[in-house]
Amino acid sequence: MQRTEPQNYLIQGIDPIQLTEQFGSPLYVYDGGTIRRKVAELLHAFAGINMKIKYACKANTNLAVLKLMREIGVELDVVSPGELEMGKLAGYNASQITFTPSGVPFEEVREAVETGAIVNVDSLPLLEWFGQTYGNTKPCLIRIKPNVAAGGNIKIMTAHADSKFGISVLLLDQILEVVKKYDIKIIGLHQHTGSDIKDAEPFLKVADILFETAKHFPHLEIIDLGGGFKVSYLPGDAITDMDLLGEKISERFKTFCKEYGRELQLWFEPGKFLVSESGYLLVKTTVVKEDPARNFVHVDSGLNHLIRPMMYGSYHHILNLSNPDGALKSYNVVGYICETDTFASDRELPEVRKDDILAFLNAGAYGFTMSSNYNARLRPAEVLIDNGQARLVRRRETLEDLLQTQLGM
Ligand SMILES: *Cc1c(COP(=O)(O)O)cnc(C)c1O
Repeated sequence: MQRTEPQNYLIQGIDPIQLTEQFGSPLYVYDGGTIRRKVAELLHAFAGINMKIKYACKANTNLAVLKLMREIGVELDVVSPGELEMGKLAGYNASQITFTPSGVPFEEVREAVETGAIVNVDSLPLLEWFGQTYGNTKPCLIRIKPNVAAGGNIKIMTAHADSKFGISVLLLDQILEVVKKYDIKIIGLHQHTGSDIKDAEPFLKVADILFETAKHFPHLEIIDLGGGFKVSYLPGDAITDMDLLGEKISERFKTFCKEYGRELQLWFEPGKFLVSESGYLLVKTTVVKEDPARNFVHVDSGLNHLIRPMMYGSYHHILNLSNPDGALKSYNVVGYICETDTFASDRELPEVRKDDILAFLNAGAYGFTMSSNYNARLRPAEVLIDNGQARLVRRRETLEDLLQTQLGM
């Protein structure tokens, strides 16, 4: 499968440079066509079983993206009351939303349950509280920590023994004791292994652990295998072969359902897989500095807008939209934040000149949602291109937005 790249640097026939002229720079642009294609890919891979997609919306919570997901039949996984509220604003029923907290105040869980969302219980103390509070009147899922290490790097693994997430599978006896004590209605088992997982093997391994654990819970309706499918970052990059993964997991799931004695639903919670490749961060070059050690390209953005390279060393392919046929030269592409703020080191790019427009690829997931106002910088606008139309779906921030909460004058 090929990495997506705007063909001749057009997105659905729209010239990204023209978008920066219209809406300014820097600018986040999302291609709705890519989102639709990724959803279709996942549905196709699991066509033979009862599978539901719960988009892990921390990847991108623009309301227009959430609405698009809802329109194409994708439900939601949220990790905070704020995300839950955004889901409802996008038109979701609370019953279509799963709340997967990580050690949050129990009041947040109460709010979610009372609004009608389903909760993934992630600790024994929360399970105890859930039982005390609701007895058998409200269903929930349990987030199991299977003690499997998988994912792109240690910072984005979430299921190894040292991870903070979920209840260790080794504590099964204690889980069962609490469930029995309060007669808690456990309708599903959940786990999320980590991010950037390429092969089917880790999914099968944790699936087997959940299937084994499931035998102790007679009222299950759902097995939730989380998210974490790897996407393509580089031309020719190895990515999750969805059809193969779907075939292998579906087969194992069908066998499990037979043994369990009932047809269950299989849930996935992809974030990155659905939106990463749809997004572009467009920036303008401000200074090209030919230093004796390195050529530096400075841009009108920084880790305040896209923190992934500095936070966990992620790779973002860069296109020089303004000079695609220029002679290749090596650059460090850096941001304007007064910290080490490097988007790319020793990157070959067609010759970069002042005021060129560069596009960072794979900016649709964990881009805008992880952005900040560090250095009193303002966040970019966002544009969604869908059905051949570009639409501004978030205006650029102003200084007033930034000052709104300050009371110290
Ligand atoms: C972040 C998260 C996901 C999505 O991970 P991706 O790597 O973006 O697919 C899924 N489930 C839970 C519980 C998460 O916290």
